[in-house]
Amino acid sequence: MISYEKALSIVLEQARRISATETCALTDACGRVLAEDVAAPRDIPPFDRVAVDGYACRGQDIGGELEIIGVLPAGHEPVGSVSAGKCIKVMTGAILPAGADRVFMVEDARETPDGRRVRFTGDERAARRGNYAARGEDRKKGAVVLQKGTRIETRHLTILASLGAARVPVMTRPLVGILATGDELVEPGIEPLPHQIVNANAYQTAAQLRDCGVLSRYFGIVKDDREGLVRAIGEARDACDLIILSGGVSAGDFDFVPQAFAANGYVTRFDRVAIKPGKPTTFAVAGERALFGLPGNPVSVFITFELLVRPFLSALLGSPFTPRILPLPLGEETRRADAERDTMVLVRLAEGRVFPLPNNGSGDYTTLAVADGMIRLPAGSPQLVKGTLVDVRSF
Ligand code: AMP
Ligand code: MG
Repeated sequence: MISYEKALSIVLEQARRISATETCALTDACGRVLAEDVAAPRDIPPFDRVAVDGYACRGQDIGGELEIIGVLPAGHEPVGSVSAGKCIKVMTGAILPAGADRVFMVEDARETPDGRRVRFTGDERAARRGNYAARGEDRKKGAVVLQKGTRIETRHLTILASLGAARVPVMTRPLVGILATGDELVEPGIEPLPHQIVNANAYQTAAQLRDCGVLSRYFGIVKDDREGLVRAIGEARDACDLIILSGGVSAGDFDFVPQAFAANGYVTRFDRVAIKPGKPTTFAVAGERALFGLPGNPVSVFITFELLVRPFLSALLGSPFTPRILPLPLGEETRRADAERDTMVLVRLAEGRVFPLPNNGSGDYTTLAVADGMIRLPAGSPQLVKGTLVDVRSF
């Protein structure tokens, strides 16, 4: 049996070894992880950019009537320069004409009926506004605007598009195969017989994987039968970079999963971790491919995914996973019978305090509905008094 920290270092090392990059179209970049720093290819904005529809002139000329010597829409080359007593009518987004250091808004202006002259009619404050963005004021050419490791969201896409990135360097997303094992399992929507259980893990894992920004494929329920398991794992191995399988990794008479891993060329890196729940968690590798065998209880699968699979996938995607930790006081005394392993306990947060959720052994799962996070009770601490500060790992 190895410690959680040792298990984590083994999976992270494997992730770093097989991490890869590629490029994707800008339109496909949302949800991907940026593989390189992205720098501004030119100043932002690239020229002194007019911010209102109005008249560009010299600040000291604003009081008098000005001659309009040209009209400049956005996207057009400059038309002449502004000198004393003159102005150019400009539109939002146009380049500020040479000689001008002020733009007054059409709302603060009155043109002569022939449209050849204009007078500023606004107040003193409006007269002082430049109403243009200076070249490079947002960022200078060459400055890093987006950092490697950024998970690309809508707002990052805005920037990538503005910088002209038609293709985006991103981390390669692994395809993750999901398998649920157990003779007792039926899919949601099928009426379970009294001795049957509805498969929750496959759906839970698929949702967690989606949240991690990776691709997944579900291979269905596999019976607790050696040949069937060998075949199903082989099929998933051929199609996927990673397999996440639940159930069958314990020491039961029909737990054939470890044998089926070995039959498919996987070498076990660990198969016992000193955490509760999650002791029989298994990690195995076959060349560039990896596999997690998680114990069958949905809460165990949930927790071991958060503790080991999520950090593995984050590392694979080039952005180290840092859990959100909130140090908060326990709202009530917490006891447990078995304090031999580090224990992960689901908790609810209320009024800034932490309330461990009851769990009779590791099979109950309905408290997941109200769990805000989990805490780790270190081995050898059977009792924690109310008020003890604990680190809550929030979901
Ligand atoms: P196992 O790890 O196969 O011994 O399973 C441990 C417990 O988890 C058993 O009570 C199983 O019925 C339950 N279990 C296993 N797989 C699933 C699943 N996919 N969905 C819900 N419960 C499961
Ligand atoms: Mg089973």
